[in-house]
Amino acid sequence: MAGELYVVATPIGNLGDMVPRGIEALQSADMVAAEDTRHSRRLLDHLGIDKPLVAYHDHSGGARVDGLLQALRDGKTVALVSDAGTPLISDPGYRIVRQARQEGIAVSPIPGPCAAVAALSAAGLPTDRFTFEGFLPAKSAGRCKALQQLANETRTMVFYEAPHRVLNCLQDMASVFGDDRDAVLAREVTKAFETFHGKPLAELVEIVAADSNQQRGEIVLVVAGAEPREQAAKSDEQQRVLGLLLQELSVKQASTLAAKITGGNKKELYKLAVEMKAQS
Ligand code: SAM
Repeated sequence: MAGELYVVATPIGNLGDMVPRGIEALQSADMVAAEDTRHSRRLLDHLGIDKPLVAYHDHSGGARVDGLLQALRDGKTVALVSDAGTPLISDPGYRIVRQARQEGIAVSPIPGPCAAVAALSAAGLPTDRFTFEGFLPAKSAGRCKALQQLANETRTMVFYEAPHRVLNCLQDMASVFGDDRDAVLAREVTKAFETFHGKPLAELVEIVAADSNQQRGEIVLVVAGAEPREQAAKSDEQQRVLGLLLQELSVKQASTLAAKITGGNKKELYKLAVEMKAQS
């Protein structure tokens, strides 16, 4: 009989958030696969649990993943944890979960804290539909490109950001999504200095620029989606720009340039350009 892989969420700051079923899973496990064994040792010590800890990263050498899988095949129970929150959510775990499932080994989640969900639940922005974007590229050019691809996104967007990049990131968001787009900066969630600032992006930029404390600690940014009206106006603008460019350029050139000018999606603009050309 194969064993079982438990994917165990752990606190994102407040140790009181460790769920009882997570504690049971750690107590019953034969071993704990952890992102950082020293970090997780502290949590296990706090819980009074003594188990062998094995370092696990998605880029861990094949031998280590194979070792964990072999233990599961041999009937052992493995608890997978990351440094904080839910494993696999911008954290390691995907590779072993996928391989275990492919081999028919039972994988069971022990749900609990997740910074994205915690921030979203208290941000006061629409939650009926949302998209988790994780970390944006670290450099401004890549970040702006990624943000432009989200310019027409109507769902609430959730981002993780490093404290030393949060100001630049908010500035880029304001320039791509517009100064007036509502956003929430959720900092140090569940910890002593937890703060939530909900403001239009331009005001958030000012707050964060003026107070270096807002550039410390752990941060989730929750950003309202584009208004459908905004989207309609954008697509009118895209058609207008494409129409002008198609008078002088090929479909490919016009759609590439229109994507650059309007921040629209290149493939979608190419399709639109083909249709417009056919109708002209
Ligand atoms: N797996 C984790 C989860 O379930 O939230 C996320 C891990 S990811 C490597 C770490 C990022 O999550 C941080 O850089 C920060 O953006 C966010 N984060 C984690 N804990 C947080 C907290 N207490 N308050 C705000 N953001 C947090």
